[in-house]
Amino acid sequence: MAVALDKLARPVRDLRISVTDRCNFRCVYCMPKEVFGKQFEFLRREQLLTFEEIERLTRTFAGMGVEKQRITGGEPLVRRGVDQLVARLAPLPGINDVTLTTNGALLARMAPMLADAGLNRVTVSLDSLDDATFRAMNDVDFPVADVLEGIEAALATGLTPVKVNMVVKRGMNDGDVLAMAERFRGTGVILRFIEYMDVGATNGWRLDDVVPSAEIVNAIDSRWPLEPVDPAYRGEVAARYRYRDGEGEVGLISSVTQPFCHDCTRARLSAEGKLYTCLFATRGHDLRELVRSEISDAELDEKLRALWRVRDDRYSELRTQGTPVDLPKVEMSHIGG
Ligand code: SAM
Ligand code: SF4
Ligand code: SF4
Repeated sequence: MAVALDKLARPVRDLRISVTDRCNFRCVYCMPKEVFGKQFEFLRREQLLTFEEIERLTRTFAGMGVEKQRITGGEPLVRRGVDQLVARLAPLPGINDVTLTTNGALLARMAPMLADAGLNRVTVSLDSLDDATFRAMNDVDFPVADVLEGIEAALATGLTPVKVNMVVKRGMNDGDVLAMAERFRGTGVILRFIEYMDVGATNGWRLDDVVPSAEIVNAIDSRWPLEPVDPAYRGEVAARYRYRDGEGEVGLISSVTQPFCHDCTRARLSAEGKLYTCLFATRGHDLRELVRSEISDAELDEKLRALWRVRDDRYSELRTQGTPVDLPKVEMSHIGG
């Protein structure tokens, strides 16, 4: 079947599915407690896509060109039976990489069953090695040690290469960059630094809070010299650098200072089945209603292709060019990053 292309000739290669909008953390830059408190109404079970529905949508997207599937959230490991979802997705024709992004809190316990279910690898978010800083950032007093244990479990069960994501926020954890680099050099873990983004409307984002990737590269390079690595494939969002002494590599995701919309091949599906063709999209297309109708596989394929065909999103590039793009935005915890 032909690969679907959007208006800017970008194929769809990467499907990210949020399996829940709930989370056991309240990271200050993602789900601030003042907004996501006791009174916050999360989705009810019947509002979530079922595993059958996710499998059907994934199979259809695979026919359009999707090869990589990422399971995210909220915190995906709090969705009951998520390993059974992995077991459904891993064997689908065309899908050659099933990964999951997690805060790592439940990973030590769940890594073996996820590996058995066919998960290829994991990305673990960890913003600091300093316990006080980390507890303040996740805002539920969760200790660093337990996340490190989750990372070790992922390495031991072959969910590799393990990537670790660190969102760097000025004045909060920018002093921890070198300690993180040192901790993961030579371990096989790929550490990636993420520029703090203006997703959603609740995190009070300011440009001053962003630590540009160039600053991070310079800091690491002056301690452990780095050299750039070519991207592994079209649409790879992380700029890669390897340590000249052979101790591995790091990545930088610079969505604020160096946007990569021209190569953006990602589609995102929220836990309630809304398709977002951009992380900064203001509205999603309701696929839950579609899969809960009597629609045939061929009709579903045509509907999804039609949605991709008209895609012309390039929010980050427009913002960098100075075009005003002041729109109501969707929360990161809703579509999973
Ligand atoms: N709960 C899982 C986790 O934290 O890995 C998966 C969902 S989380 C929304 C996915 C990724 O988005 C995490 O690595 C997180 O650090 C990142 N993220 C959340 N809010 C962000 C923001 N405002 N800017 C940049 N990255 C953000
Ligand atoms: Fe939860 Fe992940 Fe958001 Fe932190 S970044 S609040 S762990 S969804
Ligand atoms: Fe892709 Fe939208 Fe991010 Fe640009 S702003 S890279 S189109 S998700």
